[in-house]
Amino acid sequence: MTNNKATTLTFKKWQVGDVTVTRVLEMDPLTIAPEWLLKTDVETVKKHAWLKPNFATEEGQIIVNIQAFIIEAGGLKIMVDPCIGNDKPRESPLFAMHKGPFLEHLTQAGFPPESIDIVLCTHLHVDHVGWSTRLVEGKWVPTFPNARYLFARVEYENAKVDKGPEAEATYLDSIKPVVDAGLVTLVEFDHHINDEVWIDSTPGHTAGHCCIHISSKGQEALITGDMMHHPVQICEPDVCSTFCADQDQARRTRKSFLGKYSGTSAVVLGTHFAEPTGVRVTPHGDVWRVEEA
Ligand SMILES: [Zn+2]
Repeated sequence: MTNNKATTLTFKKWQVGDVTVTRVLEMDPLTIAPEWLLKTDVETVKKHAWLKPNFATEEGQIIVNIQAFIIEAGGLKIMVDPCIGNDKPRESPLFAMHKGPFLEHLTQAGFPPESIDIVLCTHLHVDHVGWSTRLVEGKWVPTFPNARYLFARVEYENAKVDKGPEAEATYLDSIKPVVDAGLVTLVEFDHHINDEVWIDSTPGHTAGHCCIHISSKGQEALITGDMMHHPVQICEPDVCSTFCADQDQARRTRKSFLGKYSGTSAVVLGTHFAEPTGVRVTPHGDVWRVEEA
């Protein structure tokens, strides 16, 4: 997967008042069967023609990204959801022993690992915390040595005892080493990083799941994490992921979020949304659709 081509990459950015959000992809967009990720099927995806071509194929396969966002706010560089990571033993073939140029791309985007001040995770699943650490001489060491890693207390307490897919390995190689290095601060829901960035509790996918809320000069943006994985969940809000801890709570949270931001200027940055990734939610009958932000 390593890309050695000497290309000049461009990185998508969103301006939210005085705050800038930059996207760094970990891998090329993935085209997958909806059943792998969501409790739905190709026929349901195909019903919604507006999902094509960006979010779905003609055949009803879904397109998703693995990506991180870097928020620049009030002089801080905040890494949100550092993806899967390299060299990690995982059960999923998609994640196992991945080797990609994420850190090189992050540096090209203007954010060498040493420059990151804060790491935020919407939750502590395998594809949201992987680059917290990297393998150096056989040991997992913090990738962002100068950062404070802020984990929601509820999420961290659950991650320690989670027996779900990939959870124990993820805890041991991606979470525990940064705790042991003294870089973690446990925070409560609604913790404010500064006047412009805070976390909103959005439980369901996990009990401690949070969205990242950005507000500056009257403009708003939200990073979804896995509160929803794919835009089909905007027009089919009852569709949960196959990895949700509490599906009823996840549905309530998703519908409340979509109702709250529908028809507003808020930019919804979908953590797994393919291009254009940043969208505005618009009403459509009893449910919703999106338009590019
Ligand atoms: Zn995810």
